[in-house]
Amino acid sequence: MTDNDQGRRQETELTTNIGDGRALRVCDLCGGVDDHPRHVLSGNVANIFPIPSGAMARRVMANAAHLPEAEQDRLLAELVDTASSDRHLDCCAAAGCPTNTCGLQVVDAPGTGAAMLEHLTSIKDRFADRPDVVKAV
Ligand SMILES: [Zn+2]
Ligand SMILES: [Zn+2]
Repeated sequence: MTDNDQGRRQETELTTNIGDGRALRVCDLCGGVDDHPRHVLSGNVANIFPIPSGAMARRVMANAAHLPEAEQDRLLAELVDTASSDRHLDCCAAAGCPTNTCGLQVVDAPGTGAAMLEHLTSIKDRFADRPDVVKAV
């Protein structure tokens, strides 16, 4: 563990993927690799987001070590893309969501992963139509 662990998720946490053909993604805040819903911040301009640290790159690669090389390459490319930032909703909320919406969604959600996805697609979610939250494949 390092001092700059921002998320509450543990790097060794075994996440349960939702499955159903959803693409695996990196979380730029905790280094997690899973198919849980993401808040995607996109700037269309390079270097809007910081270049990931070596520690973060190693964490992502450790979390992706069991995947085929092509998938690892794709995830690494996602990580080093400084024009966008993909974040677990709970990690984004903990870090201070730039659009001030993840906090409210996390508070209302019963959990992460499949529970979060179910919440995001239910009528109880006050931000059900957010285009910047990845819910589907
Ligand atoms: Zn995360
Ligand atoms: Zn957010």
